[in-house]
Amino acid sequence: MSAPGIRVRFAPSPTGELHVGNARTALFNWLYARHHAGTFILRIEDTDQTRTTKAFEENLLDELGWLGINWDEGPGVGGAYGPYHQTNRLEIYHGCLDRLIADGKVYPCYCTEEELEAERASLVARRLMPRYLGKCRELSEAQQKQLCAEGRLPVWRFRVEEGPIVFEDLIRGPMAFQGEAIGDFIIVRSNGIPAYNFAVVADDHAMEISHVIRGEDHLSNTAAQILIYRALGFSPPVFAHHALVLGKDHTKLSKRHGATSVGAFRRRGILPEALLNYLALMGSSFEGGREIASAKEISEGFSLERTGKGGAVFDEEKLLWLNGIYIRSFEPAALAERLTPFIREAGYDEHSFRRDRLEGIVATVQDSLPTLADIGGYLGIFSDDRFRMDEEAASLLRGDDAKQVLAALRWLLDTGGVPGIGAVPVKDAPAVIPSNAEGTPVPPFADLIKKIGEQTGLKGKKLYLPIRAALTGRMHGPEMDRIFALLGPGSLRKRVEKALALT
Ligand code: GLU
Repeated sequence: MSAPGIRVRFAPSPTGELHVGNARTALFNWLYARHHAGTFILRIEDTDQTRTTKAFEENLLDELGWLGINWDEGPGVGGAYGPYHQTNRLEIYHGCLDRLIADGKVYPCYCTEEELEAERASLVARRLMPRYLGKCRELSEAQQKQLCAEGRLPVWRFRVEEGPIVFEDLIRGPMAFQGEAIGDFIIVRSNGIPAYNFAVVADDHAMEISHVIRGEDHLSNTAAQILIYRALGFSPPVFAHHALVLGKDHTKLSKRHGATSVGAFRRRGILPEALLNYLALMGSSFEGGREIASAKEISEGFSLERTGKGGAVFDEEKLLWLNGIYIRSFEPAALAERLTPFIREAGYDEHSFRRDRLEGIVATVQDSLPTLADIGGYLGIFSDDRFRMDEEAASLLRGDDAKQVLAALRWLLDTGGVPGIGAVPVKDAPAVIPSNAEGTPVPPFADLIKKIGEQTGLKGKKLYLPIRAALTGRMHGPEMDRIFALLGPGSLRKRVEKALALT
C-alpha cells in the first residue's frame, strides 16, 4: 500500500527517561508510516528549558534506536523540513504570532501570576471551571502602554470565540468541544517562548504533517489547536488519539506502578523485539488472534482502528512471557552476544568461559530465562569459584537417600563406571564423554543415573533431586543431562565431595 502524502511525527519533550506510554505513541506513528510507505519524523519539543536536558534527549534517541524505531527526518538525519528542535524554530513561531497580532486574533495579557491565581481560586470556590476570564481582552492601547510602563511584560493570549469545535478522530470518531469552556489561552510567554499548543500547530503545518497520532490526554489540546489552525488559515491534519497505557488499577501508568521507562526494561533484560511486540499488542491482538509478530509483520497488518479505544493495561507478567518466547527463539551463538552485557553486569568476564562452552551454557539455560538479566543467576552453576548451595538444596542433601545416591555417584565418577575402567559391567558400553586433562572419562548422565538407580534401588525424585542439589546447588533449573555434560569431571567431583561433606 502506498500513500506518499502520509507524514507523521513523534514529538517528545525530553524531560525524563522515555516512558513506555510515549514509546507506544512513537511506535504507532512509526508503524503507520511504514504501513503506508509514508514518512516518520522525530521532532524534539524542547521549549521547556527548565525541565529539558541534553541527557534526556540522548536517552530518547538511544532508546528509540534500540527498539528499532528509526526516523526518516529529525535529529542526526536532517531533512527538508528542519530544524527539528523547537528551540531552533523560534522565528517560525514569531512569524505566525505576527500574523495573529495583525489579524487581531491574539492580545497581550499583563496579569501577574498572583492575579491569575486569585481568579482561579475564586472560580474553583464557586465550583466553576477554572479558566482565564478575559480581563486584558479589551484593554485600550493607552491601558496597555500604562501596564508596560509599570514594567509588566505581557504574554500573548489567543482570543477564543464562542461556538462548537468539532473534528473527526480516526480512532474515537466524532469529537465536539465548546469554545466557551476553553478560555483565552496563552500562546507565547513573556520571554518569547511559544506555548505547546501554538508551537505544535506552527510545526505540524510547516512540516506538512498529515496525521497527528498521540495519546488521548491531548484531546482537549486538540480543540485549542484547531482554533489556532482556523485563525492562521491552515487546514488541520487528521487526528487520531489512542488510549493511554494504564497500570493494573486502571489509572495512567506511573512510577508508583513500578518500572515505566523503556530504559528500565532494557536494563532488566527485556529484548527490544519483545518490548516492541508487546507495546503493539497491548489491549488488542494481531490478525487471527496472534500475539507474536515481528516489526515487519506488525507494520504490514497495522491499522489505527485496531489499537482500540479502551485503555491498555500494562501487564508485566505478559511482557515477561513474551520475552521468554523471544529468548527461546534465538540460536545460542546469537543469544550469547545479546547476553554479554548481562554476563558482565553479573560480575563475570565472558572470556573466562570458552566460547563453545559459553554457547553450551546458553543453550542449556535458554528455556529458563524470562529476561536476559536472569543469566546472572545461572552462571554460578557453571563456575566453580561462584558455585553456591542454597538452603533448600543443603537440607535435602542431609537426608539418608542423598548419602546413598552421592556415594554411588562418587564411586562411578572415580571409576569411570564403564567396562575396562570401572567395575560395573554393562551390556552395551555407553558412549563416553571424551576424556580430558582431568583424567577419568565420565559416562553420559543417562547411563550414570541408570546405574545409580540400580545400585541404590532408588528412583524418581529420590534419585534425581540429590544429584541436582549436589551438582547445581539448587532444587530447580535446566535439564540435568546438559548441565552434567558441561561441568566436566573436575567440577563434578568437587561438588560431590562438598555435598557428601554435608550428609
Ligand atoms: N511534546 C508533546 C508531548 O510530549 C507532544 C504532543 C503531541 O504529539 O502533540 O506530550
